Amino acid sequence: MLVIGGGVAGLSAAAALSADARVVVLEAEDAPGFHSSGRSATMLHYALGNPLVRALTLASRGTFEDPPTGFTDVPLGRRMPVLVHARAPETAELDALEAAIAPFAALDRAGPAEIAALCPALKTGEGGAVAALVDRNGLRLDPHALLQAYVRTLRRNGGTLVPGARAAAIVRRSGHWQVATDRGGTFEAPLLVNAAGAWADGIAAMAGVAPVGLTPLRRTIITFDAPDGADRWPFVKTVGEELYFAPESGRLLASPMDEVPSAPCDAQPDEEDVALAAYRVEQRTTLQVRRIAHKWAGLRTFAPDRVPVVGFAPGADGFFWLAGQGGFGLQTAPVMARIATALATGAAWPADGIDPAALDPARFGQAA
Ligand SMILES: Cc1cc2nc3c(=O)[nH]c(=O)nc-3n(C[C@H](O)[C@H](O)[C@H](O)COP(=O)(O)OP(=O)(O)OC[C@H]3O[C@@H](n4cnc5c(N)ncnc54)[C@H](O)[C@@H]3O)c2cc1C
Repeated sequence: MLVIGGGVAGLSAAAALSADARVVVLEAEDAPGFHSSGRSATMLHYALGNPLVRALTLASRGTFEDPPTGFTDVPLGRRMPVLVHARAPETAELDALEAAIAPFAALDRAGPAEIAALCPALKTGEGGAVAALVDRNGLRLDPHALLQAYVRTLRRNGGTLVPGARAAAIVRRSGHWQVATDRGGTFEAPLLVNAAGAWADGIAAMAGVAPVGLTPLRRTIITFDAPDGADRWPFVKTVGEELYFAPESGRLLASPMDEVPSAPCDAQPDEEDVALAAYRVEQRTTLQVRRIAHKWAGLRTFAPDRVPVVGFAPGADGFFWLAGQGGFGLQTAPVMARIATALATGAAWPADGIDPAALDPARFGQAA
């Protein structure tokens, strides 16, 4: 099997598939995780996505908290509570979110005093946060450890990761997909997994397969100096898509939760979005962002219905989609890899309560 893309999607699927098949991963960059998988906010939480994404997250959580023996030598995540807060006009939105999350996580409701105790910098009371949800079981993930664990599993099973191998031409010949890379290599296999993140529609087009309509959306993160004690704060998020911030290696990271359509690329932060992040931190908290220590941007790539796309392309023998992980690709990777393996090999369905049809690329009426 050939996997195009050495991000968390491609590597997690490759590790799982390599248990029973010879797997080669082609990664365009010189190191895995260079694009979205290395630029995220590294959280597992339920305050984003839809019911299916939440179910995929819940089904993945065990791998982070209790990894299989031999998978990793270091923890893949640590507990970090999640505080989702609302101003007075936003409390109906908070109620709706509470109802949506309740099947997946045990939540506490917090008022201004509890909010201030958890994050003293957050403005509370009139004009500030008046109510919040607290999920004490949020997880801060270690994406580097996760990617390394998948690469190690792949190699242990005899699979190969080929960095610096950008797929440049793809043809189907005699029951095999033949992939030529920009540095002159040629690889072939009967099954091709398209896990190219923001580039996945382009990979399909290269192979003569209809795209599913993926949209890469740029998101920006800044880091800045934190006050004493901030390392104990939770992941703090507005109930709407406005701002989140969290402790990050002795500083705070923050995102204005921007979603700017972008071509697939090495995303760079836009100065307006950087300024917006700082502005929103100062609006919602008593903090002042005097100096931005780091800033970066990455692409969150969504299918039209914001549900991942997993399964064989209709009418294109051996062309398998694993794309559209949007803003939840880390926290759903373990179960997505198991699902991809089951669909690709015909193994038993590994995710009770999750409907394969909801993930099927055929839902877009795709024809090769
Ligand atoms: C700012 C931000 C915050 C986020 N926060 C979270 C979070 O808190 N929790 C969470 O779960 N998720 C989060 N995400 C989402 C998560 O990062 C993504 O869903 C996930 O990384 C997608 O993984 P991927 O493997 O599909 O994509 P990528 O990591 O982008 O991997 C795709 C790979 O394909 C390679 N490729 C492309 N074209 C070719 C080619 N022609 N040949 C060979 N290789 C090719 C690319 O080089 C790339 O390495 C966030 C994302 C961003 C940007």
